[in-house]
Amino acid sequence: MTRQEILTSLSQSELKAYLAKIGQPAYRAGQIFKWIYHSGKSQLPEFTDLPLGLRQRLQKEFIINPLKLKETASSKDGSIKYLFELPDGNFIETVMIPAAGRKTFCLSTQVGCKFHCAFCASGLHGFKRNLEAGEIVSEVLNLKFVYGHQPTNLVLMGMGEPLDNLDNVLKAIRILNDQYGLAIGARRMTVSTVGLIPALRKLMNFDLQINLSLSIHSALEEKRSQLMPVNKKYPLEELIKAGQDYLKAGGRQLTLEYIVIGGFNDLLYDAEALTAISRRLKAKVNLIAYSPVTGFKWQPPAREEVERFQKWLEERKVRVTVRQSRGLDIAAACGQLAGKFQ
Ligand code: SF4
Repeated sequence: MTRQEILTSLSQSELKAYLAKIGQPAYRAGQIFKWIYHSGKSQLPEFTDLPLGLRQRLQKEFIINPLKLKETASSKDGSIKYLFELPDGNFIETVMIPAAGRKTFCLSTQVGCKFHCAFCASGLHGFKRNLEAGEIVSEVLNLKFVYGHQPTNLVLMGMGEPLDNLDNVLKAIRILNDQYGLAIGARRMTVSTVGLIPALRKLMNFDLQINLSLSIHSALEEKRSQLMPVNKKYPLEELIKAGQDYLKAGGRQLTLEYIVIGGFNDLLYDAEALTAISRRLKAKVNLIAYSPVTGFKWQPPAREEVERFQKWLEERKVRVTVRQSRGLDIAAACGQLAGKFQ
């Protein structure tokens, strides 16, 4: 038996093309989208306005929800981490993070990761595979319709490097953004990257209104290479040039993500180097206190150390926010829960 496709991997135009091929009118695509994205249904027999023959054919060829909940972990701060099993037995994590009137979903884009950042649990077990667009879309559908969270923002910052799975990520973004899909505004979506320059340059060709975050973590080449081996292939200086070109091509304002690691990248000269990059990219800076991951040598910073680093940046007129590490008590740093099962 051939493998069933994931129905939520199809954009509305692809679904229309499929329906045309099997002799069905285009308007059926709208009906199917309505059931999935408005009513939150994932069982084809429930699609009662479709002819029985079409429902049976779709049921043979497609699945709608490829994710099976394996475990959840709830934090005192309200974050909930969902560990999902994929049809091939792999695991991914999706996190719901509530904050003052918002619910942000942090989505995974790959099973595992190739990039082995020295502070991240997702890279520990190596790379397994890219997520299909429909699997990424299903993370949102599950949290919304099965677990009842209304998303206000999506951040593609979970397991994996989104720009290493660019085609599926772009497709998922379009489906989530489709007015007949979940109609989540592109400006409410943020893609985070370690700085894969070729993919970043490719992204410039698309007129997307998404937000882009660059994971910097050190503004000094040598330290950054220690934390992020990808820096040896795509050094900071080249990344800054690519970022400047991204802005010239009409990209929205960039954010620099910076994990503050106690005693490593939180010194005055680190702040000065970060200031220089933020000026060159006209970027705001988002500081995140490192949360400990079993097996890594890095230390979380004391609160005063983060505040001091923030102050140094503010004194240099950098726009800076401190993002609270959420879900510390549930090991929310990406990949930690999935790692238990891989
Ligand atoms: S931080 Fe991102 S790119 Fe680096 S290992 Fe973790 S998931 Fe991969």
